[in-house]
Amino acid sequence: MTNLAHRSTPIAGSKDDGERFISIYAGKLFDSHSQQLLPCRVVSISRDSGLVADVQEWGPEDVRGLDFANDASLVDLREATVLPGFVDTHVHMFLHPYAEVSWENQLTQESLVERTVRATVHAKRTLMAGYTTVRDLGTEGAEDADVQLRKCMSGPNALIPGPRYFCANRAIICSGYYGPKSQLHYHQDGVDCVTGAEFVDGEVECVKAVRKQIGAGADWVKVTSLSTHTLPDYRPRTRMADVSTATPAKAVRTFSPPELAALITTARGLGVRVAAHVQTWRLDLLPENGGVDTLEHGADLPADLLPAVAASRVIWVPTLSVFYTIDTARAPGGLWDRAAKNFQAALKAGVTRIACGGDTGPFPHGENALEMKLMVRLGAPWRSVLRWATLGGWEAVRSVEWEGALGEARIARLGEMREDARVVGDNEVPFGALRRGFAADIVATVGDLETNFARAVDKDNIVFVMKGGKIVKMNGSPLV
Ligand SMILES: [Zn+2]
Repeated sequence: MTNLAHRSTPIAGSKDDGERFISIYAGKLFDSHSQQLLPCRVVSISRDSGLVADVQEWGPEDVRGLDFANDASLVDLREATVLPGFVDTHVHMFLHPYAEVSWENQLTQESLVERTVRATVHAKRTLMAGYTTVRDLGTEGAEDADVQLRKCMSGPNALIPGPRYFCANRAIICSGYYGPKSQLHYHQDGVDCVTGAEFVDGEVECVKAVRKQIGAGADWVKVTSLSTHTLPDYRPRTRMADVSTATPAKAVRTFSPPELAALITTARGLGVRVAAHVQTWRLDLLPENGGVDTLEHGADLPADLLPAVAASRVIWVPTLSVFYTIDTARAPGGLWDRAAKNFQAALKAGVTRIACGGDTGPFPHGENALEMKLMVRLGAPWRSVLRWATLGGWEAVRSVEWEGALGEARIARLGEMREDARVVGDNEVPFGALRRGFAADIVATVGDLETNFARAVDKDNIVFVMKGGKIVKMNGSPLV
């Protein structure tokens, strides 16, 4: 076995120019590629680049004489299980639980300042729960504040602790379909007030909104809602509080096919991918048919579409947590019941391109692991769920530029080129796996994944968190 006596010796392939390392000694390590728990691994991390430099086995000989208590470059997690940091692919950092304040009152009665201060608190809770990356799919009336939030918690000199933050700015919807509701005549000048999303109609406005949002710094484009008959927010006549939203149509189509095509092709042409809020799936929404990259929610999935979804490269974000949270009755035929059965049917049909996104915000930030717990409770193998929550998260939220051979070549280069890692910035580093060249986004649990998965991923058992090579939680306590 190689001498791991920690990194006074440079790893093979690196420049010996005094690069500083941290060595994490893990009792077990979850490898998200093979989905195996590997015993006794040491992860070497370059403090300069914030990337994983090397992963090797360790034995009793290798740790003899190491001064874990006093050497700050050693991390003793020999009694814990080390994993890549978790990824929540669907959050709303500017929302807090509806059980505290309704969505409509958050938008209309909380100032942008209050909502932003709340978002900074949410960001820290998220990171301390072991979620080192999130994708925020819409500020819900908090304007473009997500772009500035990303700035404040990114880079080596971040102002506040928070996860890597991919953001989508304002969700895009056509006029008349999204709240808040009003008792006022909202078409009257000056009454329209705050809106939960950006309203656009016609191809020209679709193109313009996407260009503006990406110009303002959006990592993603979020389109909402494409067809649904289950969620009252997206029905016709939805903006007035005292008007029936009943409609004879079962599934309402919002954007026309040319509008949707304009949104998607404009975004993709600018190297940005598209997430769609959609409850009832349609074949034209799959990327192979000119559709979108990630499908959010999709709790009413027609059984005859399952084979096409299983064969598609689309990534599904089931957001089980929000259904579980909002549908407190959880009665047969209700939202949660349908979402749960739909998820199980999809698993049975071989749908495996899944990412873990809870629609976190309507339930507390920091409780993001609820999504993983629910998936396992519904019968998904825990190893698959952990893959979906780590490497699957990277596959879901990374930019178009990383796709295919170009992306693989860049990952290989990052392992060799520390300078490059600094230049490409927070969001443009591969994560979700503990391998050479990946971001050192690392967490550890003192729970036992095999015997009690729910406890092991719970925030209370996440004792260690590192983001980009910087330790932010140790022995269960925040360091930042
Ligand atoms: Zn959402």
